[in-house]
Amino acid sequence: MTARLDGLRCIQCDEQYPAVDFPQGCPSCAARGRHSNLFCTYAKSVPAHQRYPYAETTDLGHGDTPLLEPPWLANVSVKNEATNPTGSHKDRFSALVATHARAAGYGGVVIGSSGNAGISLAAYAAAAGLRCAVAAFDWLPDRIRACLTDFGAEVRTFATDRERIEWVTKQAATAELLTVSNITHPVVGSSCYGIEGYKRISWEIAEQAPAPVRHVILPSSRGDLAWGVYRGFAELNEQRGLPIPRLHLVEPYPRLSAVLDGAALTGRFPGDFGRLSSIAGDGTTVQAHRAVTRSQGSAVVVSDAVADDWFRRLCRRGHVWERSSTTVFAACDALRAQGRIGADEHTVLVATSHLFKGF
Ligand SMILES: [Zn+2]
Repeated sequence: MTARLDGLRCIQCDEQYPAVDFPQGCPSCAARGRHSNLFCTYAKSVPAHQRYPYAETTDLGHGDTPLLEPPWLANVSVKNEATNPTGSHKDRFSALVATHARAAGYGGVVIGSSGNAGISLAAYAAAAGLRCAVAAFDWLPDRIRACLTDFGAEVRTFATDRERIEWVTKQAATAELLTVSNITHPVVGSSCYGIEGYKRISWEIAEQAPAPVRHVILPSSRGDLAWGVYRGFAELNEQRGLPIPRLHLVEPYPRLSAVLDGAALTGRFPGDFGRLSSIAGDGTTVQAHRAVTRSQGSAVVVSDAVADDWFRRLCRRGHVWERSSTTVFAACDALRAQGRIGADEHTVLVATSHLFKGF
């Protein structure tokens, strides 16, 4: 346990635990088949900007990303996470899990990923002097594989998600590697230590925004980013009284939307994600659900075809975001057209990743 943390707490049932690793999330909820992630808690005396598990993390220059004010979009700012060292917001997560793995005495880290998260973790593991094992799908693009091996990662590929998770679960059973990605169904999400890294996005937005932020729109698969951003704003609310913006999570087909309409959170929701692989996956999570319901936000479906249209329009303006990132622009349009975001309500879009990986 680090000096700043006083423990972990379940998002769903509130049970408290010591600050060690629980790769399956809350043991109590897992025993009831209703898996939920945990989150880090701090002593009340720790100020909001120090509510971070480690004072210093493995640093390749992540964070402090620019907040753009596109002149062609009124009352909208764009948080450009593509400027992080490996081109995505995942660097904020990787910096913390690499630091945590070293502090907790692991020899390395293991992750299920075929994209941004794997590349980011491989880089930060290399910087921290840790082994990194990446479990990818057989369709892993050559350019991603080359990048992973350049960083020294060990790459294994699998035909199905079940086989991939089985292999990662075996690694999780050893004391050698820290597992940082989800290994359960129902889905939990990723390491709660890494998710703390996303809180800084909220802190930076609060400092950078030209007007009080009423809405934040972000791409989402399992809600790691959404929960971290929600926690960041919730802590600012507790300590400074800043209102929590409504969080709108974008998905390629109904998963969280289906749950908000009454489907069981533990269900599987298969669908066609097209080229939106960064927000693929057939499950949603307690953390995604709570980020939306506690902030009074929503879930928005943006199809691959609509995202592709926005991708081309943004490229023609010189922007560098991958397709999954451009879904936030389409979602903003849709929410405004439906009257769920007023034209005068300042809105921040989180553009998560650079297009250079080809997604
Ligand atoms: Zn629980």
